[in-house]
Amino acid sequence: MAFYEGDVEVLIDTARLQARIHELGAQVTKDYQGKDLVLVAIMKGSVFFATDLARAIDLPLTLELMGVSSYHGGTETTGEVRISFDLTKPMHGKHLLVVEDIIDTGLTMSFLLENLAARHPASVKVCSLLEKPSRAKVTVPIDYKGFVIEDRFVVGYGLDYGEKYRNLPFIGVMRTE
Ligand code: 5GP
Repeated sequence: MAFYEGDVEVLIDTARLQARIHELGAQVTKDYQGKDLVLVAIMKGSVFFATDLARAIDLPLTLELMGVSSYHGGTETTGEVRISFDLTKPMHGKHLLVVEDIIDTGLTMSFLLENLAARHPASVKVCSLLEKPSRAKVTVPIDYKGFVIEDRFVVGYGLDYGEKYRNLPFIGVMRTE
């Protein structure tokens, strides 16, 4: 995208992203045969990933959205997690697959897992496109993982900096970082 070319350097290009998402989709398809699968996409960041992943899963799934925020437009976490948009349906007895863009400190996902468990689903698993293990403050199980990255602030493919850059079709790092 010419508009962003000056500010962002490619870290994971579109072809690598899409190939990995197809592998993850095939694995989920295998694991959830015969189960009532619900993809829980965490807004806003994972929406781009979740829609591509959903198309790579060959099962009759449903898609739900949940909004949580721990970042407030900058590059540093506040440690505070809030629900800004809740699920609109009961999750009792469903097999939930939480779809996240990135697991950094793990605080958001650990909050989410606790919150979802209280709704008595049949199971809860985690699918994260990216993981930054060097920043982990709490350990969260990642059942399906796209890429492990080093401690860089990434943008694109749903990930923002000040709400921008989400529409880049690749994962990149800011040149000014
Ligand atoms: P955690 O609670 O694991 O520290 O952070 C999870 C959330 O922080 C992600 O869903 C994402 O919104 C944000 N985040 C963490 N690392 C990055 C990053 O490198 N780039 C962007 N844009 N957001 C990040």
